[in-house]
Amino acid sequence: MSKVVKFGGSSLANAEQFKKVESIIRADSARQYVVPSAPGKRFPKDSKVTDMLYACYDLAEQGKDYKGLLEEIKSRYQEILDGLDMEMSLEEEFERIEENFEKKAGRDYAASRGEYLNGIVLAAYLGFPFIDAAEVIFFADEEGTWDSERTKAVLSKRLAECENAVIPGFYGSLPDGRIKTFSRGGSDITGSIVAQAAGVDVYENWTDVSGFLIADPRIIQNPKGIDVITYRELRELSYMGATVLHEDAIFPVRQEGIPINIKNTNAPEDEGTWIVGSTGQKSKYVITGIAGKKGFCSISVEKDMMNSEIGFGRKVLSAFEEQGISFEHMPSGIDTLTVFVHQDEFIDKEQKVVAGLHRLVKPDTIEIESDLALIAVVGRGMKSTRGTAGRIFSALAHNNVNVKMIDQGSSELNIIIGVNNDDFETAIRAIYDIFVLTVV
Ligand code: ASP
Repeated sequence: MSKVVKFGGSSLANAEQFKKVESIIRADSARQYVVPSAPGKRFPKDSKVTDMLYACYDLAEQGKDYKGLLEEIKSRYQEILDGLDMEMSLEEEFERIEENFEKKAGRDYAASRGEYLNGIVLAAYLGFPFIDAAEVIFFADEEGTWDSERTKAVLSKRLAECENAVIPGFYGSLPDGRIKTFSRGGSDITGSIVAQAAGVDVYENWTDVSGFLIADPRIIQNPKGIDVITYRELRELSYMGATVLHEDAIFPVRQEGIPINIKNTNAPEDEGTWIVGSTGQKSKYVITGIAGKKGFCSISVEKDMMNSEIGFGRKVLSAFEEQGISFEHMPSGIDTLTVFVHQDEFIDKEQKVVAGLHRLVKPDTIEIESDLALIAVVGRGMKSTRGTAGRIFSALAHNNVNVKMIDQGSSELNIIIGVNNDDFETAIRAIYDIFVLTVV
């Protein structure tokens, strides 16, 4: 058995957390490769080191005084070193960072130092070799396209040489050697890449919650946890707003069928959530999770006999494509077709899209509705259960929620419901109640 363990920022925010991380790693010799984030918040109003580094670099780039802020960052690491009784000095590292700031090494370089320094400290504390991510994780271009081939070749070889290692998350290097980062929260992706390259059995992702919850705890009080979720279910949920894991983090491990186990550093005995390729295990409830987002617009195009007009749908969509707007959903009736888009992408281009629709499809009417929310009800269990959509409808009707749209994905893995922004929370509560609370 072998594992990659990734620890998030809150798991490594101070010396106390480092100690917990150490005992978690020592408790299981399978935990061979460790991917740390930068120190996160120690208390709610605290700053993440990554945010401090961005701010510090921005000052440096504008020629303003950044040294005070760099000192504060240094003291975050010093506090960790002191708390762990470590003699180690990061003086030289900080001198180099300062030099590179003066040379305008870039925001990505600056941000990456959070993980880099935390990696050095953690490696020394554990007595594991340190592997700089810049030497083993590669990007193909400035846009951040990950070079999977090159990474896999170099990283696998490097990992095969060491039984244990610490590889900092979040960054890698460009073909010319400059540092490039993934998007925010990207250490999750590094963990997945390392798990793939090492060919481990499990990718453990340690954070400050015991896995995924069926619904957002800001809307549902004490929602139940999710024990097992498939990659596909998770994709649907994270796309619709469920956070915990970076949404791109599943791809590298998914290729190899490596399961991800989301665990809680502050409650390591909790089983957490297992993210798997497929499972014969039924979920406890018909639904696995509910997630959603506000801020959508619907554009309904009506035209008599539209149904028999070949190419109608394509032409409608091209009016959006011409303006560079992507669509979310497209439910249709006999003479109507509705397109759901993100309101903030659409609003400035509304008139151009409407003009395009008139030109392309000569509709009878166009109706636009804004301030809509989309809710995804996701679950592998829906396929084998009758009446799921019906239960959703009646739960919403009982709670006086007007359903604007309902769209069942052809995989029968999800049902998307459109409601008014104002009804968003009520709708989620109603769906949770009917599928989770009423099941004993
Ligand atoms: N430290 C980075 C961030 O705050 C990356 C990570 O934590 O995964 O976004």
